[in-house]
Amino acid sequence: MAKFEIPEYYKSIKKPKQEEENMTERNCFICGKKAKMGKFQRYCTIQCRNTATRLDSVAHGLRFR
Ligand SMILES: [Zn+2]
Repeated sequence: MAKFEIPEYYKSIKKPKQEEENMTERNCFICGKKAKMGKFQRYCTIQCRNTATRLDSVAHGLRFR
C-alpha cells in the first residue's frame, strides 16, 4: 500500500499551527460570524448554540395550528 500523502492544495489551506489541526474557520449557523470551530461545532458561542436549540425545538415541537 502506498503511503498516504496530503495533497498540496490541502496543505496550503491548512494553518501551520499544530493546535488548530482540528479547527476550521466556518460561519456560525446563527449569526453568520466567522469563527474557529471543531469538526462538529456549528455555532460560534454558547449563546448561538442555545438560540439554535431553541429554534430547533420550536421547529420540531411547538407548532401553531
Ligand atoms: Zn454565532
